[in-house]
Amino acid sequence: GKVLYNQQFVERSKLIDIEDRGYQFGDGIYEVIGVYDGAFFLLDEHLQRLKRSAKEIQLSLPYELTELKEKLVELVSLNELTDGVVYLQITRGEAERWHHFPRESVTPILIAYTKIEETLDEASKNGASAVLTEDIRWLRCDIKTLNLLPNVIAKQKAVENNAVEAILHRGDVITEASASNVFMVKDGKVFTHPANNYILNGITRQKVLELCDKLQITVQEEAFTIHDLLAADELFITATKLDIVPIIQVDNQPIGSEIPGETTKKIIQAFHSSLQALRIS
Ligand code: PMP
Repeated sequence: GKVLYNQQFVERSKLIDIEDRGYQFGDGIYEVIGVYDGAFFLLDEHLQRLKRSAKEIQLSLPYELTELKEKLVELVSLNELTDGVVYLQITRGEAERWHHFPRESVTPILIAYTKIEETLDEASKNGASAVLTEDIRWLRCDIKTLNLLPNVIAKQKAVENNAVEAILHRGDVITEASASNVFMVKDGKVFTHPANNYILNGITRQKVLELCDKLQITVQEEAFTIHDLLAADELFITATKLDIVPIIQVDNQPIGSEIPGETTKKIIQAFHSSLQALRIS
């Protein structure tokens, strides 16, 4: 398929230079945006987060968000993507390898391409398992940067244990998971880590908070511990395209009654209604 390379649509080939700062330093940011039935879900929210990430690493976006938005819509239609994601990244550009930022004339490089992705139907219906692992990331997890090695290592641990996710903890405190946010339900209340520097404030997470508000489910954006998590009534994770997946086992220990819980199911249903609304609009 076609790739958006700065302002042009080009064929996928060896576009990236060996001295691209993303390649050498992970010096860049990215977004993964969900596409359902050919339509973007929460595109503006993703672009706003991209803008914030850019600002936090002092990177200037190569073009306006309104223009970028049009280009992304065009990319999806050019590639005839129906269900999947658009992966978008911006690096600080190509420059001789020195750690400090390159001179002003070096411009950021933006690429975006489409990827077909199926949803985890089985797991979302019946629940999945997760493993726990220490959160060894830096202290700016709120920025969606290309530096994902700790996340990669954590996810590998999950895969090696036939689990869908690795839930991260800093000491005793549950932060999020390797590529998703974590929610726990206890006595009918929903708990999730506050959106500070220790987690990525997921777009799906924000949607779930909004839905809980509509459903009049009490949410407490409060840190909770490994002990709390293992004693939870229900547990679920959220991420783009994964949507909401109930977690019924952690480190081989059952969570609640080891089936997707009532509160989780209510939220999933409300989430599916928002996706349905997208299809109609
Ligand atoms: N946390 C991390 C570390 C992630 O990589 C992701 C996926 N991008 C998320 C949370 C979920 O974010 P979103 O709902 O915006 O996909």
